[in-house]
Amino acid sequence: MVNRAKIKELMNESACSHNKDKKKGEGCDKPKPGLAAGGCAFDGAQISLFPYADAIHLVHGPQTCLGASWETRETLTSYEGRDHTVMGFTTGITTNDVIFGGDKRLADSIDYIMQNYKPEAVFVYSTCVTALVGDDIDMTCKLASEKHGIPVVPVHAPGFVGGKNLGSRLAGEAVLENLIGTKEPEFTTPYDINLIGDYNVTGDMWQYLPIFEKIGIRVLSSLSGDGRVGDIRCAHRAKLNVIVCAKSLITLCRKMQENYGIPWVSVSFYGKRDTTFAIMEIVKALGDEALIKKAKEVIAQEEAKLEEALQEYKALFAGKKAVLNTGGNKAWSIASGLQDLGIEVVATSIRKSTEDDIAKAREYLGENGLLMKAPASEQAKAIDERGAHILLAGGRSLYTAIKKKISFIDVNQEKKVSYGGYGGLLNLAEDLKHAFNNPVFANVSKKAPWEAE
Ligand code: SF4
Repeated sequence: MVNRAKIKELMNESACSHNKDKKKGEGCDKPKPGLAAGGCAFDGAQISLFPYADAIHLVHGPQTCLGASWETRETLTSYEGRDHTVMGFTTGITTNDVIFGGDKRLADSIDYIMQNYKPEAVFVYSTCVTALVGDDIDMTCKLASEKHGIPVVPVHAPGFVGGKNLGSRLAGEAVLENLIGTKEPEFTTPYDINLIGDYNVTGDMWQYLPIFEKIGIRVLSSLSGDGRVGDIRCAHRAKLNVIVCAKSLITLCRKMQENYGIPWVSVSFYGKRDTTFAIMEIVKALGDEALIKKAKEVIAQEEAKLEEALQEYKALFAGKKAVLNTGGNKAWSIASGLQDLGIEVVATSIRKSTEDDIAKAREYLGENGLLMKAPASEQAKAIDERGAHILLAGGRSLYTAIKKKISFIDVNQEKKVSYGGYGGLLNLAEDLKHAFNNPVFANVSKKAPWEAE
């Protein structure tokens, strides 16, 4: 059950560096009116857990909360069984359930899922309506779990409590309370880690996992990119938690440190510098000299290979300037990748960034870099004033690039290739090359031939 105390705790996370200096009640990311328009807490919770392809995600609410029931959120998985990430399930409650309660419908829905799909777990999401009418989701999930012998996990993140970020935190709480520590792994190694916060949307994880393998680091579990329910249940036996670009799950990591003594590091795998830094942070935290030595060798090989492949691109990108308008940690992580390719990032959006992200963005862009608080209105001006050659943003900003006759790349979830790890930097370079060479941006806003005279 979500209550005020839980929300307050998540909003004033002591492990967030920017909360240390704040007064009582001044937590991070406080819900503001209109926040849920960019995705409500339920949405954030589901996004965080959806990549578990061996689990089914059941939305207990009206059908409209789920929206589309097919490919609601694309995420890549190597799971060989039936991939449940492409399907959406909802109890689709009606007025009748609002009046008499929707618990029976929820129990019947779980029975239906078990008869027809046999997943490893069912995540049950409360939504505004079912939370307001007071359905006892905890009890229904407990009884269903006993009946079917699998975890049935209640996720209490109804939309009215806040935005996506808070929903993601609440999803972490649900996993911590109901899954982590409920199973023992077949074996452990001194180099077992949990990957927290990488959702493997375009296969980012698959860029750096082969490097981990070469070094000897084993990923025991993931929350939740390409994850398995059975693995996350064993997560308490890992030696290190690695948060990948997702400060929303910092509470989970802090609590795992308190409950199981697992330390954590926060890293990014965008760009060459940050990928190298991330690998070194992980091996240093694991604290084994032989592992550190091996990591240095592998990094040297990978960097040399990458530098050779990047030569032709760097020549093409010399003197180019970019404006970046994307969300959260990408404000600095993608900027880092661009800088590694020799592109100057003259402005970045900090609209959805945490204070830690803003500090990092300032560090990467330097004193002269522009941090845009209202990118929708500022980005066109920034392109003009700073002489940018390319805009990297979400699809809606395409028209700004067209109007300004500069190149454009969609770097939000619509992008199709990964920019993670060393291999991802090459993908970014290739996308940039195509964007710079694409004549459409210069031609599209020219006058038609019959208007030219
Ligand atoms: S949970 Fe609430 S805010 Fe979110 S989609 Fe459903 S009704 Fe809307």
